[in-house]
Amino acid sequence: MLGALRAAGLRLTPQRSAICQALAGNKQHPTAQALFEQLRVDHPTLSRATVYNTLNTLVDAGLLLELASAGNGNAHFDPDVSPHVHLVCVQCEQIEDVEDRALAGLARRVAQHSGYELRNAGLAYYGVCPRCQKANGRGQR
Ligand SMILES: [Zn+2]
Ligand SMILES: [Zn+2]
Repeated sequence: MLGALRAAGLRLTPQRSAICQALAGNKQHPTAQALFEQLRVDHPTLSRATVYNTLNTLVDAGLLLELASAGNGNAHFDPDVSPHVHLVCVQCEQIEDVEDRALAGLARRVAQHSGYELRNAGLAYYGVCPRCQKANGRGQR
């Protein structure tokens, strides 16, 4: 990630490095706003524009996946750019990766049959997560 920023002509400031570190291995699929708030704790001078610009540069470089809105109009970001499928809760907007061998097999078969070198997948299942279902049930009783 850091190399891509340098290649894009961005200086490697401690703030940009911190953004990359916060993204590496991040499974939360955070929004830009969530990252900004998380990083601002240790980097009080960090600006929202720096976060957005850095994220856009990483997306353009193909090192970060921008996921469509989970319901509130905000893009979510995923450092895992391999083809994979998402589970999206329309209530709390949490996004999880779906680990499923059949789906991995499907991506392989699609690549084989089409001759495509797959870059990513836009497949997502939308629903209500178990935690929200529980919370809903409690509210109704
Ligand atoms: Zn939920
Ligand atoms: Zn993901």
